[in-house]
Amino acid sequence: MININKIIFLLVLLVTISFGATSSNRIWGKGYTFLKFLETHNIPASVYWDLYQEDKELTAEIYAGVRYYTLIDKNNVLLQALIPINDETQIHIVRDNETYKVDFIPVKYFSSTNSIAISIQKSPYQDIVELTGDVNLANEFVNTYKNTINFNRNVIKNDKLALIYHCKYRLGRIFGTPDIKASLVETNGMPNFLFAYSDGKYYDQNGNGISRSLLQTPVSNARISSRFSLNRMHPILKVKRPHYGVDYAAPYGTNVKAAANGKVLFTGAKSGYGKVIEISHENGLKTLYAHLSKINVKTGQKVKTGQVIGKVGSSGLSTGPHLHFGLYRNNKPINPLSNINSQRSVLAKEQKKEFVKLAKQYEEQLKIAIIGNLSSQSPSYFVSH
Ligand SMILES: [Zn+2]
Repeated sequence: MININKIIFLLVLLVTISFGATSSNRIWGKGYTFLKFLETHNIPASVYWDLYQEDKELTAEIYAGVRYYTLIDKNNVLLQALIPINDETQIHIVRDNETYKVDFIPVKYFSSTNSIAISIQKSPYQDIVELTGDVNLANEFVNTYKNTINFNRNVIKNDKLALIYHCKYRLGRIFGTPDIKASLVETNGMPNFLFAYSDGKYYDQNGNGISRSLLQTPVSNARISSRFSLNRMHPILKVKRPHYGVDYAAPYGTNVKAAANGKVLFTGAKSGYGKVIEISHENGLKTLYAHLSKINVKTGQKVKTGQVIGKVGSSGLSTGPHLHFGLYRNNKPINPLSNINSQRSVLAKEQKKEFVKLAKQYEEQLKIAIIGNLSSQSPSYFVSH
């Protein structure tokens, strides 16, 4: 896999050299916006203003910390840029006849299934990060077990853990959020298995759903005017465009409340989302409240569930007063409604049959990972399939 990436990188490099242009990659800074990006590269702001409303909203999805790529010629003119807005979609900017075209295209990545086994030395989180260098994987892992094992209390040195997960690579680097397919934590000689099912939820080996953290609805008595969708039809272009949140129609000035305990990560204007509050919660969760008319909190401030943080408005690109409420895990948009007042999931009979079969296979693989890799001197091994 690494070889393929090397070859692709060399190809890109060759193409780049032949144009006399330089390609580079940078990390998107905190507070940096799409408009500021255009300004930095001497691209007229009209490139942004001419976008459809939905696309303007999507440019506000670019998140701090993401790696983006630029191709710049020797006169310092931007020829191309690729800026991911999440694991699946990226903004593609191309110079075209003295002007620029903006498009949304799928992120190209390689994926592979990895399995790891660790004899816990510091903490599950620390050990996973040290072994894989993947903070998102460690977050996903801790989040998965959040309601089943208390790692501080019940896990001791030399307890074992094993994981099978899908991981994405973009231009030779780990990219996005890994998908944990199966995991095992052995405490006190007792195995604790969790398996992902095709519905995106986790179950124990008997097919019992794992309860997840619940969010509170951020506005009271509001009507949902638009639901979360990974590919909503664009009303004008008639192409698919996602909607990374839930819209609640509510009168101007209605209180907006924090959906969970957390810390304010960002307040201020964010492209098509207008006045925005972002709150980070435990286990890599983040909530976003957009189109506000008033912001009552400051960056860095701690907030409690249900605390009033702002007021509903129609700032940014909005046809009427409403709250756009987004939920992200490790910067990946997820459906807020499936995390509000959700109950323990139960598998139907047929699904359960299929699940138990799948779980058995994973169980074997996890055991092999542990037995095969942790019996030697080295505390942990990295095995790639
Ligand atoms: Zn919305």
